[in-house]
Amino acid sequence: MAVFNMLENVEDLYEIGEVLGSGHFGQVREVRERATGALWAGKFLKIRKCASSRLGMERKNVEREVEVLQALQHPNIMALKDVFESRAEVVLVLELISGGELFDFIAEKENLTESDAIDFMKQILLGVGFMHNKQIGHFDLKPENIMLSDKMAPNPNIKIIDFGLAHCFQSGEEYRCMSGTPQYISSEVINYEPLSTAVDMWSIGVITYILLSGMSPFQGDTDEETLRNIIALNYKFDDHYFSMTSAMAKDFIQKLFVKDQNERMTAEECLHHPWIKPLTRKQVANRNRSSINMKTFKKFNAKRKWKMSYNMVWVCNRLHRLKLLCKTSALAGEELCESDQEDTETKPASLIRRRLSNSS
Ligand code: ATP
Repeated sequence: MAVFNMLENVEDLYEIGEVLGSGHFGQVREVRERATGALWAGKFLKIRKCASSRLGMERKNVEREVEVLQALQHPNIMALKDVFESRAEVVLVLELISGGELFDFIAEKENLTESDAIDFMKQILLGVGFMHNKQIGHFDLKPENIMLSDKMAPNPNIKIIDFGLAHCFQSGEEYRCMSGTPQYISSEVINYEPLSTAVDMWSIGVITYILLSGMSPFQGDTDEETLRNIIALNYKFDDHYFSMTSAMAKDFIQKLFVKDQNERMTAEECLHHPWIKPLTRKQVANRNRSSINMKTFKKFNAKRKWKMSYNMVWVCNRLHRLKLLCKTSALAGEELCESDQEDTETKPASLIRRRLSNSS
């Protein structure tokens, strides 16, 4: 459990800068450490103050995210430096990841061979394998959560972000959870069955499929149809989109789209699959001859970005409506959670924060 250890104001130690991104419960901003001038990313999370409130994140969920990040120190996983806490907000000081999303980086390229894609997949697998060895599942692996530390570097380094849905398994624990993003979730999540870290491996199958073809394997016209396709394992390697894909890549994906979690390839097994680690010259040559379907990939990415901005507008509108609802209820004399009122008024910059922990 995360422990409070000192009283401090985040703004005494860090200068708060521009917004880098937004999520459901707050913003991520660039922050500059006053003592060293070093740049970090500050994730500002609004905390739900009482059970009846619909605004903000439950404190126990923030603590879980902090504990998971503290347990994960790996070159391919975003690092946590520090945590501050106030009554209404928690600030996670994170490693600044300035290279943007992997998919945006790829979409800017004219062409990409399977070998180039494999270099990225290998890093994703190393990060995921590391967390799985610690019995931690990410449970929200998708292109938005795979970033690059520096896209100008000759070999950009993958960083896995957003551990908001991650879970650390205790031995013998039965864990069920029905969150995630429809396109990337597996049937055990949809069916509310006991989960394991194998859930992430299914998502890696989906990411690989999209990366190679620009198509989403189970995508239906509606979310319901997508979920039905996942449960029925209804996907195919359409020649139109997979004409440039090697047989080894298809085999790799097939071994991840396996219903039984115990039979699905693990991250460790993936790293030994011949597509990732070829054993013969012929396998190396096959990988080098095969390439990414850039035309459809660029289209997929443009659509994905459009959907992300649409969803963000939807979230903002919903938050705005909730706040209006809170104000109206207060005017009507209804009992309201104090924090809902507070959340509508508080300016983050004026908060005194307590340090939760220090993992630097
Ligand atoms: P969601 O609502 O998707 O669960 P969230 O509230 O958990 O999101 P994150 O996904 O962690 O928030 O961050 C939101 C966005 O902020 C990311 O998509 C990314 O663009 C940006 N971001 C997050 N962490 C960092 C970082 N360490 N460095 C740079 N940018 C970051």
